[in-house]
Amino acid sequence: MEKYRILGKTGWKVYGMGFGGIPIQRVSYEEAEKIIAAAIDKGINFIDTARGYTDSESKIGKALKGKRSKVLLATKSMARTYQEMKNEIETSLNNLDTDYIDLYQCHNVGTSKAMEQILGPRGALEALFEAKEAGKIRELGITGHKAELVIKGMETGEFATVQIPYNFIERSPEKQVIPLAHKLNMGIIVMKPLGGGIFSKPELVLRFLLGQDVSVLIPGMDSIKQVEQNTELLENHQFLLPAELDYLQKEAREVGDHFCRRCEYCKPCPQGVDVTNTLLIQGYYERYNLKEWAKARYESLAVKADACIECGVCEERCPYSLPIREMLKKAHKVLLG
Ligand code: SF4
Ligand code: SF4
Repeated sequence: MEKYRILGKTGWKVYGMGFGGIPIQRVSYEEAEKIIAAAIDKGINFIDTARGYTDSESKIGKALKGKRSKVLLATKSMARTYQEMKNEIETSLNNLDTDYIDLYQCHNVGTSKAMEQILGPRGALEALFEAKEAGKIRELGITGHKAELVIKGMETGEFATVQIPYNFIERSPEKQVIPLAHKLNMGIIVMKPLGGGIFSKPELVLRFLLGQDVSVLIPGMDSIKQVEQNTELLENHQFLLPAELDYLQKEAREVGDHFCRRCEYCKPCPQGVDVTNTLLIQGYYERYNLKEWAKARYESLAVKADACIECGVCEERCPYSLPIREMLKKAHKVLLG
């Protein structure tokens, strides 16, 4: 088992267990500093965050004081136009308190329109090229949930890495995205390795993924204990035993379709309900223990789930046949309860 892997055409050597920056939103700056110091001590050298993760960038920036050169720093933005992306890059540099960002990614490219904007004239890609030219970013990456869009981005040849959700329930990247990434010599960054916390034995899923031909997993970590547990799985890696594989397969069957993959095929809702975001916020509430934050975020949505008139259009579009109407009712109850 290779502990360090090459991140595609970047040529960078990354420790197979990376650090996902979502959960540190809920710890203090001091705690975040300790957790990140522990991660670096344990060998982690890849940290991923995003403009959208509230104070995650700032916490990481502060924690990396005097340690910047020890890690490869990745962030990402939902900006689609040149000017938006230009501003976002400057904000990231400022938050992360650094002169350069190793990997800047186009975050969650979810529609053909977004992809066209990014790649088109005065699109986000132009700002990324400009920042690369100026030495503010070293490499570009793309992230997304929809295989066909991610593939379109990969095929442009402009991105050195691809970041996709991959875990024991979400196995679809094995079909096209992962083989294509290998063909194009792109780094493969695995987001949501724990599916947002749906697995009862997360260590089994991480062991499974560490045994796959991917570059780096980025589970979120918000305690030193998690850092120790996760890095230990790589240090003393064991492939899954048949009984463990059976356990995961059984659990995958049980979770089945009741799990939003954030692919956004269900959009748009005629009533303006943001299905994906509502279910995502519910996930933060229930799985990440970000209760107050999730409630505040839900409160701030202009259209909430109770605007749903149960027309069923979204359910017809959902490739996973989720009972969205029922799920929205539950989410609304939980988040406004
Ligand atoms: S069922 Fe509700 S959420 Fe879905 S499209 Fe219709 S109104 Fe929107
Ligand atoms: S509800 Fe279905 S279609 Fe909508 S984002 Fe989730 S998985 Fe995709």
